[in-house]
Amino acid sequence: MLSAIFILPLLYNFFSKFFSNSKTIVLFSRFQTISTVMSKKISFQSTCVKEFQRNESTKPHQLPLYATSSFDFEKIEDGIDIFTGQKTGHVYSRYGNPTVDTVANKLAHLEAYGTDLNPYGWLTSSGMSAISTLVIGTLNQGDKILTQGNLYGGTTELFIKVLGSMGIQPIFINLKDKEAVSHKLEEDSAIKMIYLETPANPTLACIDIEWIADLAKSKGVLTAIDNTFCTPLIQQPLALGIDFVVHSTTKYINGHGNSIAGVIIGHLEEYKKGIWTTLKLAGTNCNPWDAWLINNGIKTLGLRMERHCSNAQTLAEYLEQHEKVSLVNYTGLKSHPDHELAKKQMKGHGGMLSFEIKAGKEAALAFMNKVQFCSLAPTLGDVDTLILHPATSSHLNVDKELREANGISDGLIRVSVGIEDINDIISDIEQAL
Ligand SMILES: *Cc1c(COP(=O)(O)O)cnc(C)c1O
Repeated sequence: MLSAIFILPLLYNFFSKFFSNSKTIVLFSRFQTISTVMSKKISFQSTCVKEFQRNESTKPHQLPLYATSSFDFEKIEDGIDIFTGQKTGHVYSRYGNPTVDTVANKLAHLEAYGTDLNPYGWLTSSGMSAISTLVIGTLNQGDKILTQGNLYGGTTELFIKVLGSMGIQPIFINLKDKEAVSHKLEEDSAIKMIYLETPANPTLACIDIEWIADLAKSKGVLTAIDNTFCTPLIQQPLALGIDFVVHSTTKYINGHGNSIAGVIIGHLEEYKKGIWTTLKLAGTNCNPWDAWLINNGIKTLGLRMERHCSNAQTLAEYLEQHEKVSLVNYTGLKSHPDHELAKKQMKGHGGMLSFEIKAGKEAALAFMNKVQFCSLAPTLGDVDTLILHPATSSHLNVDKELREANGISDGLIRVSVGIEDINDIISDIEQAL
């Protein structure tokens, strides 16, 4: 105790001298060196508090992680210009951050790749917040959303429990039924958006994107699609006339199962401000760390998706000839009802498939427990193979009749086929069957 009382001031003096004598070590400030503006030396404690000298003449080869909530202004005039929108720049990370913006712009570019659209994009805190921010940012109370019954479960609940109670009602319809969709749009002028998900989870049922986009345009209705299952590598809805694309980047785009985030991509200038204002004020922005992880994931998206597709195709063909399997849902199989439509609007068939075990629920649960190499995890799009039993997990809260009407029987198993060696995946499933 006593020795500390003596030693601390000595240490303090030593370091104070060190800093005040040093000409090369400077603290980070808006000026070159603090000592050039302040004649008195900076204390040890203050030195700890301030940012240290940064070597900003170097160029990082990889996107830096800007873990900062705010950004310094050189002059107060710069701050005013940025705040009033006269100059671009960053002020506060809820409004924008260099790591987050770079990744959002890259994804927007990939979704619009090969078109002459001028896309914009924002990363959000999750796939769900991408959907809620898009809807709140584009629609008003009294507007309605026309959508399908077999959406991602969370989206259905969001539409009914949250947006519905705010006065933005969903109408569920079979979006494959062209006559019914046209009739509904004709009949209800409050419908301001068609929201779709194709291929749908877990049966991979597809909706004709171009047809929906054309019809909606002719009626002045917005269109939005959840492109999570495909990624822009396989399906580019903007090129087919869709107005907005959302993703849960948590899945294939990140691909490594270590971040939760989403993205909203659009190109219509008149909606840009409304979406951005909602994002910034509802605070549904993505954080820089997750954005940085997504950026790493995107680098191998092309390679990963190719492997997901080829592994899923091989597994689907294997399962289709298995005696204990009654049905395989994979658009890469000629037996899938939407095989031709998928070929028309997708560049591959993706990594998701589902299959029905003939013997029903008990056999399906026994299969799940026998799986060793693959994982039982309630997500999808990771590099490793993930198996799920929809009836007892993702669709547990869906009424049995409705669930079965949407093709989700008690014996149905969903597989998010990973990028491992396909022989290891098949061996595991073979022994579990
Ligand atoms: C996972 C998922 C979502 C929700 O995304 P989160 O990142 O979990 O919020 C939405 N749509 C689809 C198709 C999904 O698979």
